[in-house]
Amino acid sequence: MKTERRLRLFIVARIAVTVLFLVSILVLKMQEPQAIDNSAFRGIVLLMVASCLFSAASLAALRRQSWQLILTYLQIIWDLLFVTLLLVFTDGIASPYSFLYLLAIMNAAMLLSRREALYTAALSGILFGALVDLQYYGLLARIGLSPLAALQRGNVVLFYTIFLHLTGFVLTAFITGYLTERARRTEDALRTSEVNYEELKQLHSSIVQHLENGLMTITRDGAIRVFNPYLQRLTGISQEKAYGQPCQSVFPQLPWDDRVLLQARQGEFSYRTASADPLIIGYTTIPLDDSRGEPAGIVVTLRNLTKSRQLELALKRQDRLAALGELSARMAHEIRNPLAAISGSVQLLAGNGCLRDHEARLLAIVLRESERLNGLITDFLAYARPAVPKLERFKLAGLIDDLKTLLSADARFKGIDLVVQVLPEMELLADRRQMHQALLNLLQNAAEAMPQGGLLTLSATRQDGVDDAGQRIALVCIAVGDQGGGLDEETSRHLFEPFWTTKPNGTGLGLATVYRIVEAHGGSIQAQAKEGGGTIFTILLPIVEEHA
Ligand code: ADP
Ligand code: MG
Repeated sequence: MKTERRLRLFIVARIAVTVLFLVSILVLKMQEPQAIDNSAFRGIVLLMVASCLFSAASLAALRRQSWQLILTYLQIIWDLLFVTLLLVFTDGIASPYSFLYLLAIMNAAMLLSRREALYTAALSGILFGALVDLQYYGLLARIGLSPLAALQRGNVVLFYTIFLHLTGFVLTAFITGYLTERARRTEDALRTSEVNYEELKQLHSSIVQHLENGLMTITRDGAIRVFNPYLQRLTGISQEKAYGQPCQSVFPQLPWDDRVLLQARQGEFSYRTASADPLIIGYTTIPLDDSRGEPAGIVVTLRNLTKSRQLELALKRQDRLAALGELSARMAHEIRNPLAAISGSVQLLAGNGCLRDHEARLLAIVLRESERLNGLITDFLAYARPAVPKLERFKLAGLIDDLKTLLSADARFKGIDLVVQVLPEMELLADRRQMHQALLNLLQNAAEAMPQGGLLTLSATRQDGVDDAGQRIALVCIAVGDQGGGLDEETSRHLFEPFWTTKPNGTGLGLATVYRIVEAHGGSIQAQAKEGGGTIFTILLPIVEEHA
């Protein structure tokens, strides 16, 4: 592109010079008809016209990108021919126009390279030498170039002239070639550094724009300059509005004293937005120096630490809870042994037969309460034991058969009509023991909700759902429905909390255990009021693969 522009400029300049030359020669001929003879005048005019036509044709051909190099060479060749013919028409060795060769050489250097300029210089020398020689020997007399001027000078002067011209040509080629090459190199270097600057600018602005943190710059007087989109979203203040505002009016919590301009600082503050709870914002300020090393202001980066602080707190709490859980599980386990010894001894005492009535009643209370305590410990251990599921593939229908067998001996299931709707081939990839525990708890609760008996349904179906990342996944939906009294508002609110119970002998650990198990399997559980009374508990578990 660059060379094409240069070539076009060069051709246009040549057309202008030729026209000027033509006009001046016409004026000269009109003023001094004797100064130039008719045949030479005709030749010069023809030459000028031809040069104009050639230049115009070259300009037109320049539209073709692929012809560019050829056209450049043609221009140089044309220039050499033009100057040589001009010399023929203007007295050869006596012509004042031999300096025009120098222009052709310079053009070659500018349009091509130093090597081409040297070739052009050599060609110019050959053409000039040949012309002078041919003129000297009278061989060009036929086309109007008289040998007189050459003969008058004598052969020594002729040689001297040719030698002088040749030296001039080569020197010009060398110097202009050198200079233009240097200029070209600087131009290239400048262009690449220009590109780099542009790239850098682009990069900087897109980093600032897309940063997922706040970034602003503040002048040494405390006025805001850059205020990136993250901060605009956080504060609701646009860059235009923030520009020039005192930083203390937007973030009064940021420290602003003499030291902030000299050394980096960091810390955090609580920031209140219009809508949500206060956010915890962490900041870092870095001093910014101008080109002379004087403090010019600061760069401030801001991060929203709210989530990570909450996460830290939750982790700490979880850690404490886990330690507490482990400790209490161990204690519960330890209570069990003496409890077994106590109830064993009491049973022996009660079987003795020689007890008075109120003593037997007291022992019955001890027995009942130690059974209750044992039940509580069993539930508590089920809840507190870490529930990392050991996954295995099993048929859900098989698991339900086991449950049915177990429940058939349970007094709470007298008068309960258990209806199971599960496809025999449906499989689960889960911890079988934990799933057993979870379904048992749900079924027991359902039975306890219907002390007078009723219909208890257990069904399993396949469903489509989406996971946390929004991907479609297959789910198995296990539902346990009863016809009991349903859940009141308070129970619904505390439903899966440990130790929440409405039953006189309840532990409140059944649903909490179910929740833990389902959660550990990556599933979810919810309770809904059933139409026509009763409650329905629904467990959703992701299916890894349905058939083995
Ligand atoms: P518990 O059975 O020992 O009371 P759970 O955690 O199993 O403890 O249940 C907690 C509470 O949830 C129960 O006391 C009861 O009030 C309520 N609940 C659970 N399942 C049902 C149900 N199917 N119908 C009505 N209420 C229920
Ligand atoms: Mg229960």
